[in-house]
Amino acid sequence: MDSTKYIFVTGGVSSSLGKGIIAASLAKLLQARGFAVTIQKLDPYINVDPGTLNPYEHGECYVTDDGAETDLDLGHYERFLNHPTSQANNVTTGRIYQSVIEKERRGEFLGKTVQVIPHITNEIKERIQHLGQDGRYDIVITEIGGTVGDIESLPYIEAVRQLKWELGRHNSLFIHLTLIPYLAAAGELKTKPTQHSVKTLMESGIQADVLVCRTEHELSDDLRTKLALFCNVEKEAVIQSIDAKTIYDVPNLMLGEGLDEIALKKLDLKKDQKPDLVQWNEFLSRHKNPKGSVTIGLIGKYVELQDSYKSILESFIHAGAANEVSVSVISIHSEHLTAENVASEVGHLDGLLVAPGFGERGIEGKISAVAYARTHNIPFLGICLGMQMAVIEYARNVVGLDGANSTEMDVDTPHPVIDLMEAQKTIKDKGGTMRLGSWACSVVPDSNVGSIYPTTQIQERHRHRYEFNDDYRSKIEAAGMRITGVNPDTGLVEIVEIPNHPWFVGVQYHPEYKSTVANPHPLFVGFVGKAFELSKNNK
Ligand code: GLN
Repeated sequence: MDSTKYIFVTGGVSSSLGKGIIAASLAKLLQARGFAVTIQKLDPYINVDPGTLNPYEHGECYVTDDGAETDLDLGHYERFLNHPTSQANNVTTGRIYQSVIEKERRGEFLGKTVQVIPHITNEIKERIQHLGQDGRYDIVITEIGGTVGDIESLPYIEAVRQLKWELGRHNSLFIHLTLIPYLAAAGELKTKPTQHSVKTLMESGIQADVLVCRTEHELSDDLRTKLALFCNVEKEAVIQSIDAKTIYDVPNLMLGEGLDEIALKKLDLKKDQKPDLVQWNEFLSRHKNPKGSVTIGLIGKYVELQDSYKSILESFIHAGAANEVSVSVISIHSEHLTAENVASEVGHLDGLLVAPGFGERGIEGKISAVAYARTHNIPFLGICLGMQMAVIEYARNVVGLDGANSTEMDVDTPHPVIDLMEAQKTIKDKGGTMRLGSWACSVVPDSNVGSIYPTTQIQERHRHRYEFNDDYRSKIEAAGMRITGVNPDTGLVEIVEIPNHPWFVGVQYHPEYKSTVANPHPLFVGFVGKAFELSKNNK
């Protein structure tokens, strides 16, 4: 018998209300009361995973230890809970259909007509309950992407409606996140859109147990009473979610509103213990009371959309708090950077981060930024493509290999210092075929990065097809760039450094995917620390 409790989070009225943050905040409060909690995201699009999506579509693609390319909300779940997620935590319509169609091809449906109900809905239910199997979690929170009423989310809504009955009383809970708009002309908060979205949910057979109301202004007692009455929820289950200065305030705001209390009550779970948020609040206090500030330039080609580099921005918040400094990140479009304007664009910054990415667009701008950081002793962190650009810049400008490049950008380059990995050469499909997920790296102890990590054997997450070309290793090393981290089994270059520079590190992996509130990533902590030490603000 499945003793796990399930919480379903739906959204109404508008997208982008922050279901992921509400789910992560509730999970944090439950975890802080001693429950084992995980969060799952169901995405209604037909892509099998977001790995093939342009960041402009849905923001960053987040990568888990097991190499799943997932929705960026999983990043929030990990950053809040400090607990890894996996492929099972992100399910898309594409994946559901792919699996059902494969079963059909194998004849597993024994000649039956395969239909949305029951076959698609059964597959959805299995994916939800899979996380509750083997008693690993007391509570599974499942966030249903999209907005109630969307055609594409209907099978998910139907699946969780069925699950509610199958799980029995007190084993599931429905939280509906909605928007209470403020009409400036009338000077009033309006409940009607929420009434309608709760009604839409009821048309699908689901009664919301809890309403979480996004609002710019405090909800009055009268308004809460009205919402309770018209939406069929208890008044104490009308939860205000007022705009917060930082997402990391939301768990405390939800605690103040009693969201965890009401969830435990409705799930019939013991709630004698109070949430232990000591460590969380220490982080918040360091974040909010910085002793100084640094300004870091983030050089990328998707900078118009903040969500494209979500994990990097959050890692800076964690690292800033660890150093007790505020980190202001200035986004710089790599396409607008040239050798001529680079000094005026980045010369005043305390540190430069060259972002991950794919394809040719903007890479010469990235190389100009690397060159500037290298020659002006500005702390530099290159991530994935950023590391590859650092190698290319060094090859061209220090080793003297004119026209050095990555074969991703120039197949005919005379010096392919970055080249397609051997294992990638036969791969044609784009989805899920990169070198993904957690791989080992041995760090040279006597190096900058060696002094930053607490151990020499590390595991970091990856998402790439190209690598440092070993044929150029001796030339590049002879010219002064050091390789201070390699994969212990294959020798693949994971970390490069420039020893006679105050802080110059390029990493083939993505440290940003592993930074959490409880465990800020050491590389970001070291980078921000050095940027602050050398910054003008500190003098
Ligand atoms: N495009 C590069 C590669 O595939 C870098 C990838 C990245 O930055 N995530 O190797």
